[in-house]
Amino acid sequence: MRIRLWGTRGSLATPMSNTQLRDKARALLSEAKPADLASPAAIDAYLDRTPHSWTYGGNTSCVEVALPGQTFILDAGTGLRALSAQLMADGRGKSDELHFLFTHFHWDHICGFPFFGPIYLKDRDIHVWSGRSDSESLLSSQMSGAHFPVKWPSLPSKITCTQLAEQQATAIGAATIRILPLIHPDQAYGYRIDFGGRSVCYLTDTEVSKSPHRLAETYAEFVSGADVVIVDAMYGFLDYHDHINFGHSTIFNFIDFFRETRIGELVIFHHDPLASDAAVTRLRNDANRYKELVAPNATWRLSAAFEGKVWDLESVS
Ligand SMILES: [Zn+2]
Ligand SMILES: [Zn+2]
Repeated sequence: MRIRLWGTRGSLATPMSNTQLRDKARALLSEAKPADLASPAAIDAYLDRTPHSWTYGGNTSCVEVALPGQTFILDAGTGLRALSAQLMADGRGKSDELHFLFTHFHWDHICGFPFFGPIYLKDRDIHVWSGRSDSESLLSSQMSGAHFPVKWPSLPSKITCTQLAEQQATAIGAATIRILPLIHPDQAYGYRIDFGGRSVCYLTDTEVSKSPHRLAETYAEFVSGADVVIVDAMYGFLDYHDHINFGHSTIFNFIDFFRETRIGELVIFHHDPLASDAAVTRLRNDANRYKELVAPNATWRLSAAFEGKVWDLESVS
């Protein structure tokens, strides 16, 4: 199982501004020592270790889970455009089974779909799965009327939309898929994908922070044994209190939930569009300090999602 993040931002695509780019350039130049610039290899080594040479990214939710012959795509935010280019370049856009798993149908999770190359391939099978029964009408409505120049009925591919059952696991090829109803306006579902003894959970968008105590056990049970657990942690602790009922969480509740749960890595996801790279790093550092206090014996790692992050997980069964 190979997991790759293509979009990690919440709510609205957030391109880096000129001011932010200039701030990074200034920090890079002012902190560089002559030895860091002495050769192309030295420059690369410097760029690899400085926090100023990269960004968490501004594309909205899109996560690829690649299995042999199957590509699963969790949400179709703006990150999907680059994933589409990759799939067309490496041939999987034509050859792999393609499965979309939608958490829900808010714009930030669907607006990349019309830019997905394989939907324009004649007779290409594309599978769309969600916890809802009306995913086809929700997806097609953004390609109807005055919303998009290409209309859904004219697509040459064969898109099949299927509802997943809440209470049971569904086998899709060699993978097993489970869903979990989330706390979010307009009905959202989290996912767990199991394959070859490995698993990834994807739990965005969800507001567990409003009534965490009644949810802890359900979430801990759902993710138990997973290698990678990606969660909606859009707000810091204080920020959250200005955003109650927005449908999003803080990371601190998930740290509480998974204190004694066996997982590999907990990943902060769906970053606030207003949060700079430095602010996301501060949130991650605060979360790590909190984890050390409340879960000193937890063996899992805590990280913040960034575009291009990859986990390569060898099958173990
Ligand atoms: Zn969202
Ligand atoms: Zn949403």
